Amino acid sequence: MSLLRFKAVEEAFKKKALEVTAPSKLTSDYYGKYVFTKATMAKYLSKDTMKAFKSVTEKGGTLDLSIADDVAAGMRMWAMELGATHYTHWFQPLTDGTAEKHDSFIDYLGAPGEGIVEDFSGKLLAQQEPDASSFPNGGIRSTFEARGYTAWDTSSPAFVVDDTLVIPTIFISYTGESLDLKAPLLKALAAVDKAAVAVCQMFDPNVKKVVSYLGWEQEYFLVDEGLFATRPDLMLTGRTLLGHESAKNQQLDDHYFGSVPTRVAAYMKDIEFEAYKYGIPAKTRHNEVAPNQFELAPIFGECNLAVDQNLQMMSIMRRVARRHGFRVLLHEKPFAGINGSGKHNNWSLGTDTGVGLFTPGKTAEENLQFVTFLVCTLKAVHKHNALLKASIMTAQNAHRLGANEAPPAIVSAFLGTQLTAVLDKLENSTSDEAIVMDAKKKLSLGIPHIPEVFLDNTDRNRTSAFAFTGNRFEFRAVGSSANCSSAMSTLNAAVAYQLTEFKAEVDAKIASGLTKEKAIFEVIKAYIKDSKAIRFDGNGYSDEWKVEAAKRGLDCETSVPKIIEAYTSKSSIELFTKTGVLTEVELHARNEVKWETYIKKIQIEARVLGDLTINHIIPVATRYQSLLLDNVYKTKAVFSAEKAEKIAAMDLALIEEIAEHISVIKKNVEAMVVARKVANIIEHEDAKANAYHDSVLPYFDVIRYHVDKLELIIDDEMWTLPKYRELLFIR
Ligand code: ADP
Ligand code: MG
Repeated sequence: MSLLRFKAVEEAFKKKALEVTAPSKLTSDYYGKYVFTKATMAKYLSKDTMKAFKSVTEKGGTLDLSIADDVAAGMRMWAMELGATHYTHWFQPLTDGTAEKHDSFIDYLGAPGEGIVEDFSGKLLAQQEPDASSFPNGGIRSTFEARGYTAWDTSSPAFVVDDTLVIPTIFISYTGESLDLKAPLLKALAAVDKAAVAVCQMFDPNVKKVVSYLGWEQEYFLVDEGLFATRPDLMLTGRTLLGHESAKNQQLDDHYFGSVPTRVAAYMKDIEFEAYKYGIPAKTRHNEVAPNQFELAPIFGECNLAVDQNLQMMSIMRRVARRHGFRVLLHEKPFAGINGSGKHNNWSLGTDTGVGLFTPGKTAEENLQFVTFLVCTLKAVHKHNALLKASIMTAQNAHRLGANEAPPAIVSAFLGTQLTAVLDKLENSTSDEAIVMDAKKKLSLGIPHIPEVFLDNTDRNRTSAFAFTGNRFEFRAVGSSANCSSAMSTLNAAVAYQLTEFKAEVDAKIASGLTKEKAIFEVIKAYIKDSKAIRFDGNGYSDEWKVEAAKRGLDCETSVPKIIEAYTSKSSIELFTKTGVLTEVELHARNEVKWETYIKKIQIEARVLGDLTINHIIPVATRYQSLLLDNVYKTKAVFSAEKAEKIAAMDLALIEEIAEHISVIKKNVEAMVVARKVANIIEHEDAKANAYHDSVLPYFDVIRYHVDKLELIIDDEMWTLPKYRELLFIR
């Protein structure tokens, strides 16, 4: 009998790298070809329409229906030239990934039967009512109104995929509650723009707009498709629930930045060509730390667009992988014992005058502004550290946080030695010492000079969840499969809130007679003191840090259902409602969805684990066991009793060992099923999620331990599931 596993291995070895060629020699020749950019728009729309559209997208307001009609007509013409016959409103429900429903452009010419014509109106472009009753909403729509609407996000350009024009949209209920991840993000971006402009104007009245930037780094694993297909756990849950670690994995560090294997290199090229077609500025590709782990990172861009592009990229990666005979794993922890995958979110703010607000300046005035934004961010991250953790926490990411390479399940901020020295100095100076007016009445800061090019590379700390990296912060705790919106809405909202408070406090001090500089300095100094507990440059993976973090009052909760509760704490509700990002009703509804999602994920994994052990592992173990038993009988038939006993002793020991593992596995699988049944009848989602975490999840490790032990002793020829060495080293 030849196992599927061995066929898959054999086939995998036969696969050759695909020939991929660039659509054109110069990337700029086809870059953004499938995107309805402003430049493309200008070719398809009248000048007046273009002007009206630009005004609405840049300054806000509602788009006149006649303008929308014109834009829709131009958009359809452009899309049809690229082969589109359909269109879709693309939205980001509270599940993983995106949703879309495709409609054809066709409509009756006049009366039914008179023939058809391609048509696309402004109304269809601007708004749709998908039959959305099966998207999670946390009870919002049953309480208010059953309908959900998608509405065009004019700030993210439409694009064409295959035969479909894709229109980025938000998803809201009839009464206006957000049912998606994009609507709150847009609100958070507006909030941080407003709050940051107000603060910037204390330094430079010319600043009229502040943009939030995001540069994501997408990590992923590639697994041969045939092998993938023989692992039900990978197929159904995105991760391996079983599997003993390979004798060799990442201990030699020989994969990281190593030369890219050819089949993978072809894949990487291919996804980059696709990225360029969609105007996604893919910049960096390399091997990651774990075997078969890789990374793709574009040049950073405006946050809302960058989020959409990441979602697009993940779907491109999945699609193209099939072409190359791979499956891409975006799960945060597909394999135990080796690195998981993250999606570092490089985040910064920049003004319309071209100033990066986290870039140290050339003058003291600029540096005062830099320190202001830095310290306000630290204060926000300190105050909302539990919430920020909640914003990135999922059943999947929980496996990554705290394990191996990953940031721990504690949010702290890394600054590096230079900046730490600057803040320490400021904290310990009086305002007169810190702010000196020189003879020419120029402001100078009595703080160590902040170099113009500030890349504290020497002690870049990989263990920090939130690290300053020269001109930006890097939120590293974000998971590889995540929609960045969740983290970005929370971070931008928290910083917006803090900047508004900062401005109010400074204004009050100025009103009481302080100079602007002294007022700013005093508030900064207070913030440095208040937020000190969030700063940590040491080893975030150490056990001492866990003790220390708890002492400092940072959130150290590790249970996902409990971490989620941070969304509805008093400070979070105040943050989200005051910045207008989410209402209290929306926050509660979202938590319901999060708990529900958590329950379902663990439930599915538990079922798959049960299936695998009962249908794959135990039958194989039993078969091997009876083979050994057979051997014992035969030994007895051939040898004298005394000799036979000696010879059969090893077999007997092995038989016993196998029996023991089987029995423990069976017992635990049964107990897990009972625990699930008990959890399932709990009515409230939060209590149910906690039950899944506390009483179902713990069985996973016990069962796995014994299965992995069996893997070590059972005949390799009989083992049905591809092993770690096959999944991780065949490419
Ligand atoms: P590393 O892996 O060393 O962190 P990468 O080059 O892989 O660095 O990724 C850095 C990411 O940060 C890129 O997406 C880059 O465009 C982005 N980035 C650089 N400067 C900024 C900035 N000011 N704001 C936001 N993102 C930035
Ligand atoms: Mg990085």
